[in-house]
Amino acid sequence: MTAEKIYIKPATIDEAISMAYAHKDDFCYVAGGTDVLVNKYQGNKECSCLIDITDITELKSIHADAGNVKIGALVRLDDLKNHKVLAENFPGLLIAAHEVASPMLRKTATLGGNILCENRCSFYNQSEWWREAVGYCLKCEGDVCIATGGKKACFSKFVSDTVPVMISAGATIEICDIEGTEIVGLETIYTGDGIKPRNLKDTAIIKNIILPLGNDYKIVFKKLRPRQAVDFTSLTTAVSLDKDNNIRIVIGGVDPKPVLICGTAGDAKEGFIKKALAKTRVVDNDFYSRKYRREMLALFIEQSLDELLK
Ligand SMILES: Cc1cc2nc3c(=O)[nH]c(=O)nc-3n(C[C@H](O)[C@H](O)[C@H](O)COP(=O)(O)OP(=O)(O)OC[C@H]3O[C@@H](n4cnc5c(N)ncnc54)[C@H](O)[C@@H]3O)c2cc1C
Repeated sequence: MTAEKIYIKPATIDEAISMAYAHKDDFCYVAGGTDVLVNKYQGNKECSCLIDITDITELKSIHADAGNVKIGALVRLDDLKNHKVLAENFPGLLIAAHEVASPMLRKTATLGGNILCENRCSFYNQSEWWREAVGYCLKCEGDVCIATGGKKACFSKFVSDTVPVMISAGATIEICDIEGTEIVGLETIYTGDGIKPRNLKDTAIIKNIILPLGNDYKIVFKKLRPRQAVDFTSLTTAVSLDKDNNIRIVIGGVDPKPVLICGTAGDAKEGFIKKALAKTRVVDNDFYSRKYRREMLALFIEQSLDELLK
């Protein structure tokens, strides 16, 4: 493990991006640090320059107007519940945020960091000596996936709890880089490749998460994990119904990316479940078996649709 050599704390987005370009290929942005620092000290991901973005004031607020709620990427997960418009329009997001980790972590962790938190796998998120003993894996210097024995694909799991809810509510994100700012659908930043799970440039900064108002989303959130605190997800589902009877099912914890399935309230439940099982690449890289997680996936979707459509 290399000790970090440079620690910088820019005050603006532009400053952060220019520092990132100056240390390109060997830096990492830090927000709450609850993911970056664990990965760093475990030896999973190292860099010699940390760019701490927590002094950037413009990333810290929540603004609502008639059309949208804009949540700054540095808003802490525990602070989401204090915003009235969010509580009224997206209670599902507050439930999901409350399911992340533990009280202390939620007071430190940010929404932007949750969107970009690293994929996980029982064979990758281990200490350096543990990984060395098993010969490493595809995501970490090895040439075979320990979960599947394959040499091509890494199936490390997408684990953010808030992202499925936000995608189910039609979220977009505002991204800044040296070329300027763009707004993209949240689901479009995930690649499905466990080794490089996102197609964002390393230098890019998420400025805001934008949730559209006026669709009257009702969202049911469910999470499977061994203990009711601290544990990462083994399966997350967020199922939404909007005022035009559109259904969006977003699945996390079982594939390298969040899996989105769209339909309408009139579609058969069995059809949604069949699509969910076909689209998610569940492998044995978790506390629970592949078989059990697939059974629970079917059950979560059935229960969520029943709750929404009763
Ligand atoms: C014990 C433990 C349990 C956990 N349990 C859960 C859980 O149940 N569910 C869950 O979802 N997560 C869990 N986490 C992971 C993590 O705590 C959360 O995902 C958290 O929201 C990450 O936010 P952060 O601000 O600490 O991110 P950081 O660690 O600061 O950053 C995470 C990543 O995002 C990048 N980043 C952060 N902000 C920005 C930005 N604005 N623009 C560009 N890049 C940015 C960083 O460079 C880094 O790559 C757990 C972590 C621990 C240690």
